[in-house]
Amino acid sequence: MSPYTPPPVVERLRAGDCPVVLFGAGDIGVMAHHVLTRLGVQVTCFADGRSSKQGTVLRGLEIRSPEQLADLPGTTHVFLCGNYLTTMSARMKELGFTHLHDCVDLLNGFDFSDADTGMDVVLMERKAALHKRETLKAREQAENSLVLKYLDVVVTEACSMKCQDCSNLMQYYTKPRHSDLDLLESAVDRIMESIDGIYEFRVLGGEPFVNPRVHRVIDKLTSYDGVDKVVVYTNATIVPRGANLQCLRNDKVVVDITDYGEHSKKLDELLQVLTDEGITHLTKIPVWTDSGRINFVERSADVLDDMFRNCCVNDILTLLNGKLYRCPFSANGTNLGAIPETSDDVVDLTGALSGTALREAIRRLYGRSTHLTACSFCNGRDYRTPRIKPAVQTRRPLLLPVLGQGCG
Ligand code: SF4
Ligand code: SF4
Repeated sequence: MSPYTPPPVVERLRAGDCPVVLFGAGDIGVMAHHVLTRLGVQVTCFADGRSSKQGTVLRGLEIRSPEQLADLPGTTHVFLCGNYLTTMSARMKELGFTHLHDCVDLLNGFDFSDADTGMDVVLMERKAALHKRETLKAREQAENSLVLKYLDVVVTEACSMKCQDCSNLMQYYTKPRHSDLDLLESAVDRIMESIDGIYEFRVLGGEPFVNPRVHRVIDKLTSYDGVDKVVVYTNATIVPRGANLQCLRNDKVVVDITDYGEHSKKLDELLQVLTDEGITHLTKIPVWTDSGRINFVERSADVLDDMFRNCCVNDILTLLNGKLYRCPFSANGTNLGAIPETSDDVVDLTGALSGTALREAIRRLYGRSTHLTACSFCNGRDYRTPRIKPAVQTRRPLLLPVLGQGCG
């Protein structure tokens, strides 16, 4: 790996004669603050559009609203610390700021091994890489290439837990099935032939290790040249063995473990096995929003578009049973038959769609900025959605709403 080189603007900012603002008080903002501080740049403040953050303090600095930046001079340098770069940059330009920077060169290749951010090093490296991918996506949209940030590959509808508020809607499946792997592989092959690359495949279910043949999928996904990472999401109830363990011994694989406390019964054993095998992994404590119910609500197109644009999973393309959807809620709600299937919202790979026609269909789905049919059935998934206690278990599957009732 080549040594880290700070972006040229850092040299100018070290002089301290112009204010520096980090717009975005989330993880990228925290990482950018760490790097700039290490590089000897004094940051003036954070700014954030979310009212819940405004007026609070992060890493010893005030978080201002964008409007509160008005008293700073036009020479202020603003780092856009988030993945909604088009919107963020438009907002700062409206306020008269012209020295705008994404964080790609600042974060990429930086050694976070002793960072004081409270985040796992692997997670920070992924976040930096995803920020880079998102920035490239904005540039590429102008240039016609097609690189996806994430693709969720669902290997099973079954889970070893029964969370009543699962945002992937596992609580509604009465007869969950494992995915047809021939169909899955054919669909992924055609997707990969039609696009220019993908940053991250995400292997999930339900619980992926419930599927005894998940290794076949993981081996397949890691084999593509145009893929940086294959992240396997698990709830730490099953310790993979045999081929399902062997497939994880790959530099592209990251095992992303959610620690559900008493429910993650095999957490210690899983951590030990992954550590012993040298398999990259990280553990996180979940924070949940109330996004796991299928419930049609009549809303205006403007409100739905706003929900969609702010949604934190609106760019997670999801492949489920041979069909490609724009988000996991749309995928599972439609797969369950609780949300009507709309041709604009899905790319159907159960037939022979391939080549240029498939590329254009994926581009349309990935590039759209207006709401999905599913958004009308969803409670939203953004900073405004109420938080709930994670992983409350249900004994029986929840009843599905009947399609057509209340759908207008
Ligand atoms: S949220 Fe719960 S039910 Fe849903 S996939 Fe994760 S562990 Fe399974
Ligand atoms: S249905 Fe709409 S609001 Fe709900 S998760 Fe998907 S994109 Fe987000």
